[in-house]
This record gives sequence, structure tokens and C-alpha cells, in this order.
Amino acid sequence: MTQQSTFEDALFRLKSLASLADLKPEVIEALLHPKQMLEVSLPLRMDDGSKKYFSAYRCRYNNALGPTKGGIRFHPNVNQDEVKALSLWMTIKCAVVGLPFGGAKGGVTVNPKQLSPMELERLSRAYVRGFADFIGPHLDIPAPDVYTNARIMGWMMAEYESIHRTHAPDVITGKPIELGGSLGRDDATGRGAYLCTLELIKKMNWTLTDIRVAVQGFGNGGYHVARLLQQAGCKIVAISDSQGAIYSENGFDIESLWEEKQQSKQIKGVYCNDSICEIIEHSAITNEQLLSLDVDILIPAALEGVITKHNAVNIKAKAIVEIANGPILFEADDIINSKGIHVVPDVLANAGGVTVSYFEWVQNRGGQSWSLEQVQSQLKEKMIAAFNDVWTLSETGGHTLREAAYICALRKISRVIEAQGTRQYFLTR
Ligand code: NAD
Repeated sequence: MTQQSTFEDALFRLKSLASLADLKPEVIEALLHPKQMLEVSLPLRMDDGSKKYFSAYRCRYNNALGPTKGGIRFHPNVNQDEVKALSLWMTIKCAVVGLPFGGAKGGVTVNPKQLSPMELERLSRAYVRGFADFIGPHLDIPAPDVYTNARIMGWMMAEYESIHRTHAPDVITGKPIELGGSLGRDDATGRGAYLCTLELIKKMNWTLTDIRVAVQGFGNGGYHVARLLQQAGCKIVAISDSQGAIYSENGFDIESLWEEKQQSKQIKGVYCNDSICEIIEHSAITNEQLLSLDVDILIPAALEGVITKHNAVNIKAKAIVEIANGPILFEADDIINSKGIHVVPDVLANAGGVTVSYFEWVQNRGGQSWSLEQVQSQLKEKMIAAFNDVWTLSETGGHTLREAAYICALRKISRVIEAQGTRQYFLTR
């Protein structure tokens, strides 16, 4: 049997969950088709004088709620199918947290670790030249994603401004603070997931200091959620990156681990780096073993599709908080649900990033700079409100949190589409 694509998986889940939201057929139909998908070949002059071509994508999935919004990923596995799936999830996510945005996503099929800094800058600028008429402050606003960062966003903004001969900090979010970025954007995704996790712990009447957590992926999302949960009293007993995973019954000190990782560039090397190696006992495990550890909370914070129908049966965590987009395949949902595992879904758990991106866009458009306290308190307000809306619907309707999150989002999108008139309206006039 051929393996289902990520987008097919996302569509299966959407269709299945849309049936719970009591939507008009044409609303469902509107959400099954991406609005616009553009593929561009980016020519790049390499440092050795040669020229290479990289495939680049941008998908604007649905703009019912506002201009589309979504990150740009630089990764060797980027393809059109993945970009479409990610842009669909962005559509749902923006609706769950009540942002005036539709969903989009972009990416380049490239291993950025193989590029020099100058090649990386040229590629980032080439991306904007390729999509200069597709993106815009009122149209489609990109942001960082896997292996893109604030500096890259700054280069992209500069390229857009030079093409359009204008000042447009609101064309892209996740920029360096000096170039119009927002305070609090760097840890917003991890902080949003942390706030959701705290709410879940409260609802379950668990004790913070008893909670043992495993985090897959030690990048922007994984590091910050681990850091904040550890500060709150939880024990982070396992953490991983693309090279492998480490486990310690006593828990890790996340800040020291992060500092060491910045130097050694991989998590496996960290604990063999004299200093910490000698202080904390740990064992090396695989990323697959990390997923099936006997912990309270599992946080997948790397890539999509890591939990399948094959390994879902081995999961022992009581709850899963999805920082990665789509880490659990649709095919595994029933297995996870039948085990009574609470899943805080990606479209809610990782929405902190796009929420602060929205704050950045608002600041840029109004010529304002909010304080860190203002950003964090508004993020907290939005995340807790969204979590509680989803939780309440899940309790009252007997739904899983993922079902409830989709129902909340789809109903918001549906109201906008229906306001333009549906078949029922036109037939009765
Ligand atoms: P990142 O590039 O900062 O970090 C990714 C981490 O995952 C790295 O530590 C990398 O080594 C690790 N990794 C890669 N492949 C792996 C593998 N096979 N097994 C284990 N670890 C692996 O990326 P990020 O920004 O933290 O994003 C992580 C996930 O969160 C992605 O799915 C992304 O779409 C999602 N997300 C991120 C944000 C954000 O604002 N950063 C927002 C929403 C969703």
C-alpha cells in the first residue's frame, strides 16, 4: 500500500472533524482546496562560482478570516504536499486563537547547514524575489519556521522593501527587534505551549512538581517549553535533537544543556563535554525510545508524522502537547484516544508563535513598540482563553481536545463564509 501524503492525512482529519462541526457542505468544500499555490525555482550563485537551483513554495490556503499568515521552512524534505498541509493547519490555528488571519506556509527544499552565511542570505533574498507579488502586509505575511530565524526574516524584509521601494516592516514577522521585531517573539511558541500545559495540569489536578516530561526536538519550541516547565517545577527527563536523545531519571538543567548545545551543536556531544558529563548521570537513547518513555507529558517539538499507527501503541505518556505541526498522524488518533491520552493539539499548543507574530504585525502597522510585559500578558490572556474555549467544548460535547479545537475553528471560519451567502440563502430568495 502506498503511504498517505501529509496533505492527504491532513484532509482526512479535516473531513472527519468537520463532520462534527455541523458545517454546510460548501463550507467544507471551500476548506478542502488551497486558494493559491506557487512553486518557483530559485537560482543561487554559490560561493565557488557555480549556480544551483532550489525548489521553493508558498501556499495561501484560505483567507476567509484575513490576510494569510505562516512560516517559511528551509529543510531538505520540504515539498509542495507538506507546504499545503502546513498551510491548512495554519488556517485552523489562526481561527482557534481568534486571530484575524487566514493560513499560509512556505519553504525551500534545501539543507541550510550546507550553505555559507553569504549563500544563505542570497537564498533568503531570492525567495522574496520569487514571491514578491504573492506576499504583502495585507495579503500574506511570512514568519520563521524550521531552520529559518530572525536574521533571515530581516534579509527578507529588506529585499521586499527594495523591490517595492517602500518601508514595510509589516510584511514579515519574527524579525530582529532592531528591525521592527517584537519583544517576546523568540520564546512565544514554547511559552504558548507552556501555558497550555499548565492549564492542562490544573484541569487534571496534577501536582506540578510530580510531572515528568520528555521533549523531542531541542530547537526554538522545544528549548523554551522545557526551560519554562523546568522553572515551574517539572522534571525534564528526556530531550533530543536530530542526532539522538538523552535520558536522566533526575531531570536535566535545561539552561546548561542549551548553552552547551550552542557550543557543541548537537545534544549527544553535550554530555560528553567534561563539565556536565560528570555531574549528571544520563543515558543515550534513540528518538524512537524517547516517544515511548513512561512519562507524564510527551512534547513532540521536531517534525511532523513521528507518531504513527505502528508506534502509537507503545506510548505511555498521560498527555501529549504538540509543539511540532502534525506530529501525530491521523491514522494514530484512534489508538491514542483509546488509551485515554489527552492530546493538546498543534493548532492550539503551538499557536503562541503566530499570536505574538500578530502582535508584531499590529505594532508595525501602528508604529508602536510594546513592552515585554504587555506582550507576555496579552499572549497569556489569548492562550488561556483559547485553551478554555476548547476545554469547555470538549467537556460539554464529549469531544477530544483536537476535535473541540477543530470544531471551534471551523465554526468561526464557517460564519464568515456563510455571511457571504450559501446555497440555502440563494435558493430561498
Ligand atoms: P528548530 O529548527 O528551532 O528546531 C527543530 C529541532 O528539532 C532541532 O533541535 C532539530 O535538531 C530537531 N530535529 C530535527 N529532526 C529531528 C528528528 N528527526 N528527531 C528529533 N529531533 C529532530 O524548529 P522549531 O522552530 O523549534 O520548530 C519545531 C516544530 O515546531 C516544527 O514542527 C515547527 O513547524 C513547529 N512550530 C514552530 C513554531 C516557531 O515559532 N518556532 C511555531 C509553530 C510551530
